[in-house]
Amino acid sequence: MTITVAAALAQAQAAGLDRLDGQLLLGLVLQQPRAWLIAHDTDRLSAGQAEVFSALCARRASGEPLAYLTGEREFHGLRLRVSPAVLDPRADTETLVDWALELLPENTNASIADLGTGSGAIALALKHRRPAARVSAVDLSPAALAVAAANGERLGLAIEWCEGSWWQPLAGRRFDLVASNPPYVAGADPHLQALRHEPQLALTPGGDGLDALRAIVAGAPDHLEPGGWLLLEHGWDQADAVTALLHRAGFAAPRTRRDLAGQPRCTGARWAPP
Ligand code: GLN
Repeated sequence: MTITVAAALAQAQAAGLDRLDGQLLLGLVLQQPRAWLIAHDTDRLSAGQAEVFSALCARRASGEPLAYLTGEREFHGLRLRVSPAVLDPRADTETLVDWALELLPENTNASIADLGTGSGAIALALKHRRPAARVSAVDLSPAALAVAAANGERLGLAIEWCEGSWWQPLAGRRFDLVASNPPYVAGADPHLQALRHEPQLALTPGGDGLDALRAIVAGAPDHLEPGGWLLLEHGWDQADAVTALLHRAGFAAPRTRRDLAGQPRCTGARWAPP
């Protein structure tokens, strides 16, 4: 006899997992929704299920994002497939998407670019909500682009996927709106240790954490239409630095928005050519 559903969930919590994570992983193993578990406390796992479940719990307890274990993450109402090739999309990044949506009328055919798209989260969320927009998404990592393109395919959302560094694959083109959640964690930030299961390329450019933001802001004047918007996600303590970068590049009146936790998380500005 192996363990019951209730005992498996208790074991997960004893291993240090949140109750919810334990339920989601057990649901995955048993191929049942979370609600089913509650009504089946005394059902027993097979030996194989118990083994798979305890291996998943050990991985979660060692810090692997839940999304890598389940293979999916919900972002802005879309169910995205994710893998360790891409950053686990954060709910905070929905702030950036919401801001972009406020700037884009429902039936817009605007040209949009997402720089450093990873799983495709921002590009796909914008295309989903603004179907007539023309959306391009850039990433340096071919493995990330494969994940993103597969998401686009599964969700039936047509995006132009471009491999390269920031603006490089978009040379000579201008956009009405550019959004980016680039790597911005400083190279020596101790926080990186807790994020070690995610691609370092997506998390940190090294140094003070601002190099990717510098490259994006520097290239923006050549790639924005007059009146076009640049919206950037950044670290909780980088709003002033990003505002200064935008001013220096010739943007007027940058503004900052806070994330769900109340931290200044996104700064953006409109391009008015001199
Ligand atoms: N917001 C992420 C974190 O600090 C970092 C994401 C990023 O660098 N773009 O966990």
